Amino acid sequence: MTFNDFNFDERLFEGLSSMGYREPTPIQAQTIPLIQAHHDLIACAQTGTGKTASYLLPVMDAICRNENRPTISALILAPTRELAVQIDQQVEGMAYFTGLSSIAIYGGGDGIGYEQQRKALREGVDIVIATPGRLIAHISSGIVRLGEIQYLVLDEADRMLDMGFKDDILRIVGQLPEKRQTLLFSATMPPKIRSFASKLLQNPEQVNIAISQPAAGILQQCYRVADEQKNALILHILKNGSYNSIIIFASTKESVKKLDRELRAAGLKVKPFHSDLTQDEREQILLSFKNRQLSTLVGTDVLSRGIDVEGIDLVVNYNVPLDPEDYIHRIGRTARAEKTGTAVTFINNKDARKFLAIERMMERKVDLVPLPPEIGESPILAEGALEREHGRGEGGRDHHGRSNNAGHKKRFFKGKKRPSGSGNATKAS
Ligand code: AMP
Repeated sequence: MTFNDFNFDERLFEGLSSMGYREPTPIQAQTIPLIQAHHDLIACAQTGTGKTASYLLPVMDAICRNENRPTISALILAPTRELAVQIDQQVEGMAYFTGLSSIAIYGGGDGIGYEQQRKALREGVDIVIATPGRLIAHISSGIVRLGEIQYLVLDEADRMLDMGFKDDILRIVGQLPEKRQTLLFSATMPPKIRSFASKLLQNPEQVNIAISQPAAGILQQCYRVADEQKNALILHILKNGSYNSIIIFASTKESVKKLDRELRAAGLKVKPFHSDLTQDEREQILLSFKNRQLSTLVGTDVLSRGIDVEGIDLVVNYNVPLDPEDYIHRIGRTARAEKTGTAVTFINNKDARKFLAIERMMERKVDLVPLPPEIGESPILAEGALEREHGRGEGGRDHHGRSNNAGHKKRFFKGKKRPSGSGNATKAS
């Protein structure tokens, strides 16, 4: 499928081409035809999948073609000002040749911003992107005319409910015409979202973009470990396990080079793999790894994507990758083609939060293995650190500093701050 298949207005097509969009992402391929066919829609998709353009493109296309545009054609509700601004930036990019106007309305600004918003809302703007609290403030002042809106989008609906925006949203929706198209996007689909959706949408179509998940054959384990214990732990794991083909990931080429030196000094036969090597050198190393002359590679994420070596039986994450997708790619180097393999992650105190994000994305906990006694005690995480970050605040803790509380995965990232009630406009076009 290409963007040509959607028959977008020429001016919109030019905008998305100039943004470098060549092919629709899977969520775009699935949702755009449904939105063009005027269906209400519930879509389960994470940030990073191209979900914003999946609703913006068909909505903007329809607005472009409408010669009798109302004061406001589309309302997009988003939980935070950051998301509202990001959406507005995508509108600006795609709308560049279309003449469509948009405004982001969110909390925390000054009086000038508020006046700019009032003016834009009064005079008319094609697309309003708003956090619910601030929009309610404008509605209360009596200047917003939402009675002709044709498209309502709820972006990150689960976060909006978590942040307590349910009543504000229902109040806003109460101002909209019943005859409209409603599109709800959410990263998760718990029952409360479904029941909320049933109040707002009519006979919705549903689209689900599954997040990538690690292969079932990978045994995932993690250790809570201090940086100065990591090398001893690697040596322990390699000495006590029967692994033939091993990749150790570190995040930067500097840390790969250092680790390579240290492991070789400790008697391991390893080779480093990073972007400073020439193509020839990389190919040589990979070849010897593939035909088992070399058992252990130490590499950056250059290694995590694309290299297809059968029979890697151990992946070690010397540190936690920043992006959960990188974790999936790294550990996906093992257990390929229905085989089994082990993926071990070292978590120091600094990386504990990042690992929680990974567990949350996978919707599962990774087995925590106690440090072998000869390596010493695991570092203790400052009391309450994770609770403060993630609003957990219940359950006990084990001696590794992790919560003993089972079944808490859905609550890790709650407790985000609700934006304040006053706002700022990014532009009033
Ligand atoms: P989102 O999931 O909407 O936050 O989008 C993630 C990123 O992907 C954004 O930087 C978009 O600009 C970009 N993006 C969205 N759709 C496409 C596409 N079809 N081709 C290339 N990049 C895209």
